[in-house]
Amino acid sequence: MLNPLFVMRQWFRQIARRRGAAVSRAVGNRPFLTGIAGTLIATAMAGLTLATLYSGRTDALNHARETSANLVSLISSDLARNVEIYDLSLQEIAHRSQEPTVWKLPDALRRTVLFDRATMAAYLGGAYVIDPHGVLRATQEGPIDRSVKVDDRDYFIVHQRNPHAGLFVSRPFRSRLHEQELSFALSRRIDAPDGTFGGVALLAVRTAYLQRLLDKVSTGRNGTAFIVLDDGALLARKPYVESMIGRDMAEFPDYASARAGSAGSYIGESPVDHVRHIFAYAQVPGTPLVVIVAPAVDDVLAPWRKRSAIAGGLTFMLGAVVALVCWTLAFTLRDKVRAQTRLAELAATDPLTRLNNRRTLDRHLDEEWRRARRSGGVLSALFIDIDHFKRFNDTYGHAAGDEVLTAVADCIASVARRSIDVAARYGGEEFAVVLPDTASGAARHAAEKIRRVVEAMRVAQLPRDAGAVTVSVGCATCRPADGHNGPELLAAADEQLYAAKAAGRNQVKWVDWTQAHARQDDMHDHADPAKRHA
Ligand code: GH3
Ligand code: MG
Ligand code: MG
Repeated sequence: MLNPLFVMRQWFRQIARRRGAAVSRAVGNRPFLTGIAGTLIATAMAGLTLATLYSGRTDALNHARETSANLVSLISSDLARNVEIYDLSLQEIAHRSQEPTVWKLPDALRRTVLFDRATMAAYLGGAYVIDPHGVLRATQEGPIDRSVKVDDRDYFIVHQRNPHAGLFVSRPFRSRLHEQELSFALSRRIDAPDGTFGGVALLAVRTAYLQRLLDKVSTGRNGTAFIVLDDGALLARKPYVESMIGRDMAEFPDYASARAGSAGSYIGESPVDHVRHIFAYAQVPGTPLVVIVAPAVDDVLAPWRKRSAIAGGLTFMLGAVVALVCWTLAFTLRDKVRAQTRLAELAATDPLTRLNNRRTLDRHLDEEWRRARRSGGVLSALFIDIDHFKRFNDTYGHAAGDEVLTAVADCIASVARRSIDVAARYGGEEFAVVLPDTASGAARHAAEKIRRVVEAMRVAQLPRDAGAVTVSVGCATCRPADGHNGPELLAAADEQLYAAKAAGRNQVKWVDWTQAHARQDDMHDHADPAKRHA
């Protein structure tokens, strides 16, 4: 018994083989399409990789923006907390200075009343009370140098002119009391009892304090960070360049945008180092200070660029290899399919006459028989034999004989020229033609035409006095029916051929069974020509 699994496996194999053959034929016939498809796939893969790499660039920039914004936020909250503590001390100093009894206390006691411990912080350059004329009135340090005047300083002028200036952060200056140290001032106005200008409470802060905050921040090889006043004055910068402290950054249009909102970021070229930076900025809450952290775009993208160069290069190489392999495969397959087609052609044709050979004729005859039986159509067959060909060969030689065979084959092909007609060399000097969908009259007409064309043809190798080459043709037509087959039709045509020979050659004899059904059964009695020629 048949194993069903085995049957199924055979079945699948057969389908795979047929499909495979169809695909390889399609591919072999269109090597350019296959190559282009391979190239497109490789390009699409490369495109996908490049898109992924590019999104990696955006990610790297966004990540740097976030990191910088976080750093800005850390510095800013540190600053805000300290400024708040200093401001509380300032408010206390201003408040107590308004108390007349404070000024009557002994120096040491007055200092402890006016200045709390916060004013001893590491980076404070000193805590002072300035009188309405810009002269020192009290300091947290002790003895007062009354020769020092500060009435020209911005903080003094602001408070003198504006009773509502509140906490004022000055532009950086060189301290007149502390060895020219770079400092900036946090100050508040002291009101006299009558509401007029009563002086200034002042905390001098060394810019080194801001510098230390910035130094803790990692900004990369070409990165920078700085703290500016909202009017543009630079208070601290990393890397530290002393000559730049106090410089007005407002002259650089890009920084103006950093002062427009309370926080944000943008990418731009620094006018200082001419390097593109990601500027992340934020205003310190409750102060006019703006903190900016700006890593260099090149530093941020360096690892991404390295990765992309490797991945991009590999993708390009892989894509090129894929495309190359596709083209090579396509052309190899094309050559193979061409060779196969050529072999199949050779196996199906007669090498001398280029007509179909006997095997092809048998196959077509069978196919056409079945087709006609299905459609109820008619089918005709011709059997053609060259007259006295043995004599011809003996007289003019085999080479001339071959020449004639080829010429006769050309004549037959020129008559049976429809794409559905099948002309074949049956063997020796005999030919057969299958004429699908051809009724008796048309078949006879074709047979007669072949006979005439052969008679009229001229073979170059023959002497002038040689007679014409002639053929006898047997023709049979039928309407294929069950119980009969193609070879029987051919045998009937062969019988007519013999009748034509017997009647004197160079003529056509026919039989038409589409009219005389009764005679069909006689066909069984006729010998198959294949048997005779075997
Ligand atoms: P008939 O008119 O009765 O057909 O006479 P015939 O001489 O044509 O018939 P016969 O069967 O006696 O001879 C067939 C000859 O065809 C024999 C052979 O010399 C010749 N022949 C067969 N095949 C070829 C071929 O391939 N080349 C050549 N040159 N001659 C061939
Ligand atoms: Mg013969
Ligand atoms: Mg013959």
